[in-house]
Amino acid sequence: MSEEATIDLRSDTVTRPSAGMYQAILDATVGDDVYGEDETVNRLETTAAQLLGKEAGLFLSSATQANLTAMLAHNARGEEILLGDQYHIYTDEAGGCSALGGIVMHPLPTDESGGLSVPQVLDAIKEDDPHQPITRTLALENTVSGQVQDPEHHRALAEAVRAQGLKVHLDGARLMNAAVALNMTAAQIVAPFDSVMMCLSKGLGAPVGAMLCGSTSFIKTARRLRKQLGGGMRQAGILAACGLYALEQNIARLVFDHDRARQLAEGISNIAGLPVRHQTNMVFIEPEAKDLEPLRLHLESHQIVIGRQKPRIRLVTHLDIDSAGIDRTVTAIHSFYR
Ligand SMILES: *Cc1c(COP(=O)(O)O)cnc(C)c1O
Repeated sequence: MSEEATIDLRSDTVTRPSAGMYQAILDATVGDDVYGEDETVNRLETTAAQLLGKEAGLFLSSATQANLTAMLAHNARGEEILLGDQYHIYTDEAGGCSALGGIVMHPLPTDESGGLSVPQVLDAIKEDDPHQPITRTLALENTVSGQVQDPEHHRALAEAVRAQGLKVHLDGARLMNAAVALNMTAAQIVAPFDSVMMCLSKGLGAPVGAMLCGSTSFIKTARRLRKQLGGGMRQAGILAACGLYALEQNIARLVFDHDRARQLAEGISNIAGLPVRHQTNMVFIEPEAKDLEPLRLHLESHQIVIGRQKPRIRLVTHLDIDSAGIDRTVTAIHSFYR
């Protein structure tokens, strides 16, 4: 066992650049991007904007920085965003928009599938009353913990709140997983949104970076905010080259990650005491509490790394997980329960 490669199922962020991606770095033409002179960054920004059907794009150092930049662009201090209580901006970004932007986050309980309803969102919009923050933005997410959100429903939500003067942002860290699963273009999915964030370093396999797209004037504001946040990078073309490579090579293949998640879920679906569900590139298992740590250690002894979440553990497929790796994982999980 010891000479076998490690299978890391904690997240799709753990991928390493492929040989082709390293070659793209070597081939990149670079310049000073703060002066707007990095050709590769400029090409990535144009390409991403086209892919998402928006006027302009901005390359940022991380998806968290891109969400934060968008929230700062849409909301002033004392203004409020509505979002789901399990959405990443609320749960996993260190409260950045509140800490740095004085923005109030109003988390709304999401339903089983990670969604919010139109009445729920409309009810949460505050009246113009000096006691209350001004509700400015609705922030949605797709996928939500791997769950694909219905684009028609997102459109309905966007139209309902836009009629009340709100802006609508999509945290599409895994937007391309949704697009592939729905067999739709990303542009179709994000058409109702004023701003969209898409991560390059999750399933798409780039080492660093995220794209923020929207109108020309929104991106102009976002570019200044990125600078304020210390995110103006210089010869960033070596990173943008990876992003371009990822957009060209690694979108269509996401379907394989989804197939492998299904393969894993089906392989362990008949184990008593182990509820399993899967969506897109994620499988969730819910071992009994007493089994959580022993299962993790058992898998670790087979060079299989899983997360430490409770009570449900997330297993994520990605570029560096092949079908043989899934077979090994299925066998190892079965050997624990035998
Ligand atoms: C991972 C993730 C982010 C942030 O990505 P970082 O690379 O950690 O900055 C934002 N939104 C969602 C939905 C994510 O899954």
